[in-house]
Amino acid sequence: MRSSIASTASVRVGPHGRILALSSAWFTDGARRRADARRSGRCVECGAELASHRSPYCSRRCQWKFHGHYFWDSARSYTMLRDRYRCRVCGAKKRARELDVDHIVEIARGGAALEYSNLQTICRECHRQKTLAFLRDRAAGAATAA
Ligand SMILES: [Zn+2]
Ligand SMILES: [Zn+2]
Repeated sequence: MRSSIASTASVRVGPHGRILALSSAWFTDGARRRADARRSGRCVECGAELASHRSPYCSRRCQWKFHGHYFWDSARSYTMLRDRYRCRVCGAKKRARELDVDHIVEIARGGAALEYSNLQTICRECHRQKTLAFLRDRAAGAATAA
């Protein structure tokens, strides 16, 4: 399901190959899923019964989460909320502005950009270490390949 979204969408890509938005999918696939959810009275994200047919979301949390399948900013906010603003590497709890959201498998290595299973909250320091290790590995890989 998700992979079909990615392949058909107009994709906006930011620095480091990060997918920032699947905008056209939001208006096609996303709109269809929201309409279906309103019609069936089930939350588009979690499937819980809806109190009203006016909104396709049972909660603000599901709204963020659903948005995050299409937009990086929302994916980022929801991932921090899910991880309770704690670095998943060292466990430190921090303010949102001191945290990053990181791709567990880097996009350069084929990791999915907007897939919650591939996203984790990470503090600036752990992120720096991880990026350095990644660059070192890649340099080593390039050296052996040459
Ligand atoms: Zn829900
Ligand atoms: Zn950390």
